[in-house]
Amino acid sequence: MLSDKQKIIFLAIACLVVVISAILIGFFYKEKDFLEIDFLDVGQGDSILIKAPTGQNILIDGGPDNSVLRRLSENLPWWDRQIDLMVLTHPHDDHVGGLIEVLKHYQIKRILYTGVVHSSPSYLAWLEQIKKRNVVLTIIDRPQTIYFSPDCKMVYISPQESLVGKSVTNLNNSSLIAKVEYKKVSALLVGDAEAEIEEGMMARGQDLSAGLIKIGHHGSDTASSEEFIRAVKPSFGVIQVGKDNSFGHPSKRTLKKLERNNVSVFRNDLQGTIRMSSKGDKWQIIP
Ligand SMILES: [Zn+2]
Repeated sequence: MLSDKQKIIFLAIACLVVVISAILIGFFYKEKDFLEIDFLDVGQGDSILIKAPTGQNILIDGGPDNSVLRRLSENLPWWDRQIDLMVLTHPHDDHVGGLIEVLKHYQIKRILYTGVVHSSPSYLAWLEQIKKRNVVLTIIDRPQTIYFSPDCKMVYISPQESLVGKSVTNLNNSSLIAKVEYKKVSALLVGDAEAEIEEGMMARGQDLSAGLIKIGHHGSDTASSEEFIRAVKPSFGVIQVGKDNSFGHPSKRTLKKLERNNVSVFRNDLQGTIRMSSKGDKWQIIP
């Protein structure tokens, strides 16, 4: 027979084992039944954190500076320091700047970009950091699909051709464009691609429909043609834009167009970080 003291010790050990197991399960078992897309408030620039149902973290662009680090720590658990996939849509400063800091502070497993040529100091510094850290670098040089699980994938639909080693006249149009699909929902992430690229995608008859869209080029007039908005038919649109930016983004015409097409618009300059989630049937905003 156990004495009372032994019983208390036994109970305390049992409780400790349960607590430690729960922490370990939380730590290693990240799988869940929903997809989350956080449009991080990084001021004037793009940065999108996707949390796949399989537990992978995907970061598309990093905004202009190290404010992305704060946003990541606000939107990831403290122990999760891994970015499974880092994507650079195109090498303008308002997309690549913050990624340099992310490379220094997070464990990055793989990076996707187009390989386009650009000589800005921040792009070169980002490439230098990648080399230093030996991260796997994959070039997207044609439309292709990356699977996170059988029902969750990222479909790259632009650019149509390899940009490796090429200089382009308009870097915005070199943007990697991806459709993230989970069961019945999808989100179209268009970087800074302008109307010319939108026209090309429509002319090729690509399926652009998506319930959620990251509005192109920070809501500028150069993107989001009326035809394109109609082809996508989104219920929600997110504009990644900073307060009082010098570009006049988003344009009033774009906002009117979205309103006319019944798109519920969310903006980083007005609402801070925008978090959307889906169990695979419809999108909803996380307050
Ligand atoms: Zn931009």
